[in-house]
Amino acid sequence: MWSETKKQELLRRFGKLYPDPKSELTFSNDFELVVSVILSAQCTDKKVNEVTPSLFRAYPNFKRLSEAEIAELEKIIRPINYYRTKARNLIRMAQSVREEFRGKLPQTREGLSSLHGIGRKTASVILSEKNIEPAFPVDTHVFRVSRRLKLARSKVRDKVEEQVKKQFEPPRWRELHHWLIFHGRRICKAQRPLCEECALSDLCASSTSKNS
Ligand code: SF4
Repeated sequence: MWSETKKQELLRRFGKLYPDPKSELTFSNDFELVVSVILSAQCTDKKVNEVTPSLFRAYPNFKRLSEAEIAELEKIIRPINYYRTKARNLIRMAQSVREEFRGKLPQTREGLSSLHGIGRKTASVILSEKNIEPAFPVDTHVFRVSRRLKLARSKVRDKVEEQVKKQFEPPRWRELHHWLIFHGRRICKAQRPLCEECALSDLCASSTSKNS
């Protein structure tokens, strides 16, 4: 467990490093948010942002997406990992939103989780992005960086979520989630963490920096 002083120092440094912690996905409404988040599973935000402009031109809302021809949709999202499964999930998700939620994206964890292609992490991202409730979604970067920093020790994603959440107040979860992602993408990379350049190296038990 981190001491209170060390945790506050971590938050202070993250705030300095990444002053604008927010999603790097491009979206402007609930429809675009849910579609982008579903596409972003096991795929970079950059790739998703390259595909969504043409996707949203062809299918601008739940109604149009629910009526999409799967082959046409697959053609547009082909550069995205697992595009076939995601195309199927997107159409089914849009159909459920129309049939069960009168065409509006549900605003509860239960409602979101009932939709195709939406698991715990995806629901958490949406709840957090929309400020509906505090959530701490654990993606591959959050998982890796939390464990390297020893904010969590479990090898199970849900446990990592639990262990990190326990140590911080709910209003800090959203920014901490984004900070861990930013840090994982830029510095604490999967294959070769850049510990020598890392501003957290003196706080990190996994640091290989000679200065830490
Ligand atoms: S010191 Fe190294 S392992 Fe620790 S957070 Fe920084 S890059 Fe990651």
